[in-house]
Amino acid sequence: MRALTVEPGRPNSIRLEEVAPPSKSDGSVLVRALALGICGTDHEIVAGDYGWPPAGARRLILGHESLGQVEDAPEGCGFARGDLVVGIVRRPDPVPCPACQVGEWDMCRNGLYTERGIKQRDGYGSEQFRVEPDFLIKLDPSLGPLGVLLEPASVVAKAWQQVERIGDRSAAWSPRVALVTGAGPVGLLAALIARQRGLELHVLDRNEDGPKPALARELGATYHTGDLGSLKPDIVVECTGAATVVLDAMGRTAPGGIVCLAGVSSGGHAIRLDIGALNRDMVLENDVVFGSVNANRRHYQDAADALAKADKTWLARLITRRVPLERWREAFERRDDDVKVVVDFAA
Ligand SMILES: [Zn+2]
Repeated sequence: MRALTVEPGRPNSIRLEEVAPPSKSDGSVLVRALALGICGTDHEIVAGDYGWPPAGARRLILGHESLGQVEDAPEGCGFARGDLVVGIVRRPDPVPCPACQVGEWDMCRNGLYTERGIKQRDGYGSEQFRVEPDFLIKLDPSLGPLGVLLEPASVVAKAWQQVERIGDRSAAWSPRVALVTGAGPVGLLAALIARQRGLELHVLDRNEDGPKPALARELGATYHTGDLGSLKPDIVVECTGAATVVLDAMGRTAPGGIVCLAGVSSGGHAIRLDIGALNRDMVLENDVVFGSVNANRRHYQDAADALAKADKTWLARLITRRVPLERWREAFERRDDDVKVVVDFAA
């Protein structure tokens, strides 16, 4: 079978090559790939800046945003031939830490977790792959090719679940206004969930044209490209990782505000910050700023529900390019109008 592989740490080592069929040790369910979403992490791995090969190997099969169809599954495992499925990315650490022990590998405490297509486990960027039934999510068949959005949606489903857990510290919590910063796939999916919660929605991004403004407005959001004026959101889901945006988000919430940092900064961008003023503001207003990464099984399930309820036409427009496997190189080119780019394994 063919697979997209890289040598982690070596820039632009990506290639499409013939590899051995998936090993039974990856799991008992055999899946035929339909699509693979490409995200910022994949670009970092291709650039040689991130990623680890499996033990004893030099190359890693790339890809963690999967969509496939079950080809073969053992009797009674909960999956059957033809099911539309997505594989979970992370696996618990082998110790395991207290979080991984209870299935919360997204909260892993020792960093020894592994990840399909990223960290020490081959990914889903191959014509077939195998997954353990416990790490496979069955999708509503009506989602069809849009199911490839499940993995990025799981990350924001977790972010929202954490926001709500924190909000529940007050019996009077009734958020009204949400701000999402960044209108990439993660930001727009975070915005979708905000609307499903019935919140007044604001989306901030620097893109003034391309598909992002319309996608945000069609959700009912007010789309901002510059100064947010006097906007005081109850909840911010920060998806840019840009230092100035992060700082502005932390300083502008309404009392009791919750800021979820879901974007990863590259570092090296120092800005002036009056930590005393920020501290004063946060203490006197009971504000919370927290980080959120990855997702566990429950969040994938929440994300599957959110996608099933969403407008399919809108979801389809998040996928701005579908590149057949034969032309895979194009999927790794960055273009101005991209939101989500997908490698189509079924074309
Ligand atoms: Zn752990």
